[in-house]
Amino acid sequence: MLAPIEQLTIEELIRKQRRFFRTQATKSLAFRLSMLTFLKESIKHHEAEILQALEQDLNKSELDAFTTEIGFVYDEITRTTRELKRWMRPKRVRGASIHLGTQSEVMYEPYGTVLVIAPWNYPFQLAMAPLIGAIAAGNTAVVKPSELTPNVAQMITKVLERAFTDRYVVSVEGDKDVATELLAQKWDHIFFTGSTPVGKIVMEAAAKHLTPVTLELGGKSPAIVHEDANIEIAAKRIAWGKWMNAGQTCVAPDYVLVHESKREAFLEAIKREAFTMFGNGVGTKRFTRIVNEIHFNRLTGYLTEGDVFFGGQTDRDQLKIAPTVLTDIEEDANVMKDEIFGPILPVLTYRQLDEVIEFVSSRPHPLALYLFTETKAVEQTVMKHLTFGGGCVNDVLMHLTNPNLPFGGVGESGMGSYHGRYSFETFSHAKSILRNTTKFDLPIRYPNFKAAEKLI
Ligand code: NAD
Repeated sequence: MLAPIEQLTIEELIRKQRRFFRTQATKSLAFRLSMLTFLKESIKHHEAEILQALEQDLNKSELDAFTTEIGFVYDEITRTTRELKRWMRPKRVRGASIHLGTQSEVMYEPYGTVLVIAPWNYPFQLAMAPLIGAIAAGNTAVVKPSELTPNVAQMITKVLERAFTDRYVVSVEGDKDVATELLAQKWDHIFFTGSTPVGKIVMEAAAKHLTPVTLELGGKSPAIVHEDANIEIAAKRIAWGKWMNAGQTCVAPDYVLVHESKREAFLEAIKREAFTMFGNGVGTKRFTRIVNEIHFNRLTGYLTEGDVFFGGQTDRDQLKIAPTVLTDIEEDANVMKDEIFGPILPVLTYRQLDEVIEFVSSRPHPLALYLFTETKAVEQTVMKHLTFGGGCVNDVLMHLTNPNLPFGGVGESGMGSYHGRYSFETFSHAKSILRNTTKFDLPIRYPNFKAAEKLI
């Protein structure tokens, strides 16, 4: 059900935001900067409660919750505040010879009233990071947090209520029915983070109003460990990226393709690293839990689809599943069809790089791809042949921590991108303006049919 916001209906809320947007108040640099400061202050004020909510909803450790959720948001606000004046400046562009006497520029203007829909896996960060872009670009916004992390959803509402009035930025809590009601409205932009099937629903709803969308979706992100890779480093970094947040990370390595000559060495190394970092997970107090029983059941179903090389322990009461590696996966296994989004890592082998190219390119474009190799030619082959949202060579996840890189998917893993300046551009319309001089007027552009007719 809809959370009461002064008992406004969704239609009234949007009307109120549109009226406020039309006052032009959201557009000045000073206003945007103060709003970002208010947001940061409000998060700081509620920081302890947000950490607690992340523990209640997902058993996130304070360290994980701070670095991947709150700290990330602080950094994004700090950077945006520092750079915004420069980003907002109209960008001069060159013209061709027919543009003699003109100036051309791109002006960034806010779309208007935008909707941000967030998922549950990084429930705070994935609601706030797009919102920072929406504010920086001068929009008003409605944020819909995930219902699967209700304590964090409440904190998002509290943070926004303390910082803003509902005519500017507001949280609307609720489940898919509320999301459906929100999506039935006309928005000026929709920013959705979540699964690919729901992404399609969002895009269909947006199409009715010709609303532009950014879709940050999921998929199966491979990690390729080539025969010349530094196996110890590959195992350590893959273990870290896979089992952080119990594998419930959109860009977590979903499965590993390791060169068959390095299979044993890699398996032994990742087993050691997983245990050093996360213990057996189930008995590790601070290991993140699975979000709910539906996902727990889905994930435990994968455990019988291959040989458990290590892990496999589960605890239904705590909703915990140990870091697990599966080998010798059954043909047609669901674990190699669905996005896993949990702590289970299938490890497959290959002999030739061509097999990797064929395997990955015959599937939907992944959100991320990770390649471990020491050879430039191998890197170039993979980069040239495979399409994916973004990724790393000799690392995992780190590409999304660099705000100078656009973060987003391609094909079934999404469209559009954000972070840093890209968030600002995502929530802005790039308006093209050509300014001409009146000091002279080139006659050549005008027709002169009369003179031409006289010549005939
Ligand atoms: P989800 O698609 O089930 O839900 C996301 C949001 O959509 C929630 O707020 C939910 O209330 C709403 N929703 C659910 N069903 C809906 C419907 N029928 N109509 C309208 N709205 C609906 O996704 P999730 O389970 O919350 O998140 C996990 C997925 O998100 C994974 O696929 C993961 O890869 C992806 N993800 C992607 C990114 C990214 O940045 N690309 C980040 C995090 C998660």
